[in-house]
Amino acid sequence: MMDNYYKSLLDNNKKWVEEKLNEDSNFFKNLAKGQNPPILWIGCADSRVPANQIIGAQPGEVFVHRNIANLVIHTDMNMLSVLDYAVNVLKVQHVIVCGHYGCGGVQAAMTNNSFGIIDNWIRHLKDVYRIHNQELDEIDNENEKFDRFVELNVVEQVYDLAKTSIVQNSWKKGNNLNIHGWVYRLHNGLIKDLNITFNNDSQLNETYKLNL
Ligand SMILES: [Zn+2]
Repeated sequence: MMDNYYKSLLDNNKKWVEEKLNEDSNFFKNLAKGQNPPILWIGCADSRVPANQIIGAQPGEVFVHRNIANLVIHTDMNMLSVLDYAVNVLKVQHVIVCGHYGCGGVQAAMTNNSFGIIDNWIRHLKDVYRIHNQELDEIDNENEKFDRFVELNVVEQVYDLAKTSIVQNSWKKGNNLNIHGWVYRLHNGLIKDLNITFNNDSQLNETYKLNL
């Protein structure tokens, strides 16, 4: 026996189709022709941060990759495949790494608790903490420390994103590829731009004082 909540999902889908067709009778026909999204979104899997909705984007506008704590791991074939397809086939102009305050993955990395298999994923976040432990340990207020850790995680992921062979090669070819770091606040729905936008490697190296 199907429960009502589950059934309502399929009913909602039918309503949504009707609404879309009322607005534009060719809505689905046009979408079916192909996609040409200008944006790749790398965000957290958290159910409260739906990529399209929070930036008012329509279907067809955002290519999306989400995982726990919006990590860019250089050996993650899933993320690399999405990035490669987005940059080299779809030719997106913007890649946005969007973290969010109150991220459960980041919070878990601030503890020594074990959460099962996810511990292995969270190790990457603990590495981010180690890189920035001087700054983070100086923050006494736990909420402020948590917020800053969320921001610094995005900063590190943008750096790792920039250093993927995919982004490096795209920049070498002179493509107009811009990468950005954002943080979304669950409490008010607003996005903070961390102003770490890059579209070439020398600008990046100058900012991070690294050329690795
Ligand atoms: Zn999260």
